[in-house]
Amino acid sequence: MALQQQRGSPTTRSSVGSVTTLSNLLRMLYSRAGDYPRGQPHLDAESFSPNTPEGACPRCHGLGWIHEVTEASMVPEPSKTIRERAIAAWPTAWGGQNLRDILISLGIDVDTPWRNLPKEVRNWILFTDEQPQVPVYPGWSHDEIQRAIRRKVEPAYMGTFSSAKRHVTHSYATTQSAMMKKRAARFMIGRACPVCHGKRLRPEALSVRFEGLDIAEMGRLPMARFSKIFAPYAEAKAGKLKALRKTHPEKALVVERIAGDLCRRLSVLLDLGLGYLTLERSTPTLSPGELQRLRLATQVVSNLFGVVYVMDEPSAGLHPADTEALLRALDGLKAVGNSLFVVEHEMDVVRRADWIVDVGPAAGEHGGEILYSGPIEGLRSVEASETRRHLFAEGAACRAGCVHRRGGFGWKG
Ligand SMILES: [Zn+2]
Repeated sequence: MALQQQRGSPTTRSSVGSVTTLSNLLRMLYSRAGDYPRGQPHLDAESFSPNTPEGACPRCHGLGWIHEVTEASMVPEPSKTIRERAIAAWPTAWGGQNLRDILISLGIDVDTPWRNLPKEVRNWILFTDEQPQVPVYPGWSHDEIQRAIRRKVEPAYMGTFSSAKRHVTHSYATTQSAMMKKRAARFMIGRACPVCHGKRLRPEALSVRFEGLDIAEMGRLPMARFSKIFAPYAEAKAGKLKALRKTHPEKALVVERIAGDLCRRLSVLLDLGLGYLTLERSTPTLSPGELQRLRLATQVVSNLFGVVYVMDEPSAGLHPADTEALLRALDGLKAVGNSLFVVEHEMDVVRRADWIVDVGPAAGEHGGEILYSGPIEGLRSVEASETRRHLFAEGAACRAGCVHRRGGFGWKG
């Protein structure tokens, strides 16, 4: 199993909580042991996920933000008249001319500055869902058109009106052209959803609380803080838990079990120096090192055995103080019967290997030769090895230059 540094297919919906499965546990906890408002029916765990139809906020469909069109976004220069293309959001070429001609037929003054038109007229032009069909006489004034209609003069064609909002949202949703989509997006403003306030869940789910927090607020806490909330429940010490045992013994059992599982997973994450991350943090925003350690932590608690794990510089980006925790995590994987193959430059990590493969002797085209393969002590006598000097020099740090040289080694289970 390769614990990659690279991001998989980048979906913003993949988060720290989903990769570590902590979000699943939290949903179960809220569903089965959360505090519901009086009279509210019980919700299943699915209803606490913004990625399900049961859980998603109905206004923003679980995105947490919405695209909106406003008068200011569609008419950036209100001193212009409609004829001068005040409605910037309308199509540029014939489509725009068509819509302006339709407005003339409808009797709207296209030569008055936009901002001087009555508010109802402006709102109708921008936001109406109506699509009246009107006779179009291109180039004619409103009066001429009225006369033509009375005399039953055949129009050039019948045109269908479409408000600016309708045009923008329709072309955004349906166009196959990236350019058209980009143009439509220019007239839309993104803002936090007014219903869920960016929390992505439907109001019923957000009304359920644990320790006074809704599940979205919980997901915004750094994991270190999060762990402090659950530790007393996991250790069966929380006063609340004792009270709960008397009133709702089954619920108390659920909380204790889930909190125990949460804390077991959290302790590995905290050990690996990831306690500052929140569950809602999307994984495409993590550094490669963070992502690899996140995957490593998930594996440590997976109870898999007989697996060969392949890792590229698991110490990358790790604070030296956290290296010992990384080694403990790696040892933990080994102890349950797995093998680890690690590419590494950090000598404190290299030193812990059972078997070392030194590739050298230098960087790039000067490397690529297997200088040594065997138990770590054997490298001591390999003259050509640059690694040897760093590895066996007491307290010597790896020089910057060695970043370009690759040495592979492994732990054997
Ligand atoms: Zn919403």
